[in-house]
Amino acid sequence: MILSGVELASKIKKEIKERVENLKAKGITPALRCVVSSEDGSTRVYLNSIKRSCDKLGIDFAEVTTDSNNILNDVKTLNEDESVNGIMIMHPVPTGVDEVSVLESLDPFKDVEGRTPQNLGRVLLNVRSFTPCTAQAVMELLEYYNVDLQGANVTIVGRSTTVGKPLSLMMLSKNATITVCHSKTRDLMGKSKQADVLVAAVGRPKMFTADWVKEGATVIDVGINVVNGKVVGDVELDSVSKKASVSKVPGGVGSVTNAILMRNVMKASS
Ligand code: NAP
Repeated sequence: MILSGVELASKIKKEIKERVENLKAKGITPALRCVVSSEDGSTRVYLNSIKRSCDKLGIDFAEVTTDSNNILNDVKTLNEDESVNGIMIMHPVPTGVDEVSVLESLDPFKDVEGRTPQNLGRVLLNVRSFTPCTAQAVMELLEYYNVDLQGANVTIVGRSTTVGKPLSLMMLSKNATITVCHSKTRDLMGKSKQADVLVAAVGRPKMFTADWVKEGATVIDVGINVVNGKVVGDVELDSVSKKASVSKVPGGVGSVTNAILMRNVMKASS
């Protein structure tokens, strides 16, 4: 079975559109600002997709271009601007800038990506917060497809602060048993193969082939890799989908992540 994120994303966006219209009727236009201090190969693609979603949903979007000398001041100005509801600090920041310090300076109530220490701490405590959008997207995709995490053996490959680490805590709160793997993990294949739910968040194209997956497992592919101009995930869809349920790339976790970001902007405005 192939799991799509498109249906879930459009369901979430339909709800957002209605709520944005209600907010606008009250004279409130949700506003998102992206702080861009440096760019890598994927920055423009990501910004364009966010802008497109904002335009479709009636959310006011703008980039704020800054540099290493001004980034902290610019974030402070956006924190204090009452017309701005959501702020994203685009990754990467320039060399020499401490990204954690920038995130610490961000108002947690405007942190729609769930990256501040306050919001990450709230994930640890399992209390309401802006959760990291991609980790939240994985949780909601699993729920949408009725995948029961209670007692399940979950293997997450990748331990980043935006995906693997928060996701492990969120899944633990749902009573799953979690194994978190990374580049130094021994017998990665064995740990992958034991999983009822396998999450691939590495960034290596088609790393997970059918040999790595248990028959009947659920595989969530978070990876986004560009190979010969084409977007592919970390999972080899054709072989793995013959023995397991697997989310597709594109049109899987990424679509839901984008919808959740939009929902957070709307929530920050309410
Ligand atoms: P990241 O910060 O680069 O983390 C990659 C993780 O993979 C690290 O924990 C690393 O281990 C681990 N790793 C690397 N090579 C490995 C190997 N050979 N075996 C086992 N583990 C290995 O990446 P990220 O930001 O989490 O993103 C991961 C992927 O998800 C990327 O393709 C990214 O584009 C994609 N992504 C998708 C979305 C979405 O919405 N769908 C959102 C964010 C990211 P160490 O910690 O030991 O280095």
